[in-house]
Amino acid sequence: MKIKVIAVDGYASTGKSTLSKRLADALGFTYIDTGFMYRAVSYFAQKNGFLKEDSIQEEALKEALHKTSFSWIKGKSSNVMLFNGSSYGDELRTLEVSSWVSKIAGFGFVRDHLVYQQRILSKLRSVVMDGRDIGTVVFPEADFKFFLVADAEVRAKRRFDELKAKGENVVYKDILKNVIDRDHQDSTRLISPLKKAQDALEIDTTNVSIETALEQMFSKINSKS
Ligand code: C5P
Repeated sequence: MKIKVIAVDGYASTGKSTLSKRLADALGFTYIDTGFMYRAVSYFAQKNGFLKEDSIQEEALKEALHKTSFSWIKGKSSNVMLFNGSSYGDELRTLEVSSWVSKIAGFGFVRDHLVYQQRILSKLRSVVMDGRDIGTVVFPEADFKFFLVADAEVRAKRRFDELKAKGENVVYKDILKNVIDRDHQDSTRLISPLKKAQDALEIDTTNVSIETALEQMFSKINSKS
């Protein structure tokens, strides 16, 4: 069986990107982090002054978004995704970006633009794509679908440790609040809410190592291919 798309959806900080990257490397597929795309648009909105206190200048963002695009370059060990020709790193993972991103991701015009790009980016390659709506909306026909869940406190602690290690001055309870707020906004939005596809395999990463979760994924893939 030729696998084209593996969809990995789930709640914030459940280990989606680590597992998806490992899966893609092992299979020789391209990993696509769609959270990167929503974060890049949020960062772009912030830098262009479209985010003011509690409001978003929707029309200005809509207009500017049309002129933006995502592309790839070959990196040292894997492909690197570019937004408007530039690569991005930790600046997209700050608490500030995390606190805007779910609001930005709730706009239909943002989702339409990014889903279109996600489908184009996957045209010529087999991909492991992680996000919130991959198995339900972007690729409902994906060959394999996984849905990751984990206890919110464990997820917040992982995220807190990660940001601390990068030198960010963060407070655990702010991270926990952000994780819970994002889960709520992502699962209750009207357009493409976060939910488990009926045919997805649910994996709870609260008490299992990355290796064990990966084994569960491979066992599913091997049982069908
Ligand atoms: O995956 P990550 O936590 O980096 O995603 C950041 C945010 O981007 C999510 O909380 C969600 O609001 C949005 N997102 C989305 N749909 C996706 C991927 C991410 O709405 N497919």
